[in-house]
Amino acid sequence: MHITLVQGDITEQRVDAVVNAANSSLMGGGGVDGAIHRRGGPAILEECRALRASRYPDGLPTGQAVATTAGDLPARWVIHTVGPIHSTSEDRSHLLRSCHVEALRVADGLGARTVAFPAISTGVYGWPLDSAARIAVDAVRRAETSVTSVEEVRFVLFDRKAYEAFESALAG
Ligand code: ADP
Repeated sequence: MHITLVQGDITEQRVDAVVNAANSSLMGGGGVDGAIHRRGGPAILEECRALRASRYPDGLPTGQAVATTAGDLPARWVIHTVGPIHSTSEDRSHLLRSCHVEALRVADGLGARTVAFPAISTGVYGWPLDSAARIAVDAVRRAETSVTSVEEVRFVLFDRKAYEAFESALAG
């Protein structure tokens, strides 16, 4: 499996699956979530509503992942995962790790070969970039042994600062 980095907009990626930094309601939000729903159109929200009505009446728990159509995005699927809100009093890194592992597990189940991840939890959820980058890269590297169909994990970083944080994590 290759891990690649690009600076850009995740909604423009031509990959099999894009990962959404969703919130547990699955009903959309700001940041990546807002961009994905805006660019992907109403089909994504429709499937999210159906998931709330069936498998996740209380919402998608933090650290878990579920797939929907990607609607009008160039990707085939959106894999929604809920990152943890950063806390200084409690170590929630296992949940951030879990987002990556579970999203890859879902991707594998779909037969996705290329998967784009945003920098989960580093926006409104407040996770410091360097720490989030290390956790994300480490989780993906460790998942490599068990995940079979995914050939490329592409971290799509919105700005230079995020890109550099992931670049350092990858070098480490
Ligand atoms: P969270 O709630 O998990 O913190 P956010 O969506 O607020 O999620 O932010 C996660 C990261 O995604 C931030 O680093 C933010 O700059 C970045 N981001 C926002 N929009 C996009 C986009 N269209 N493509 C890629 N990354 C984005």
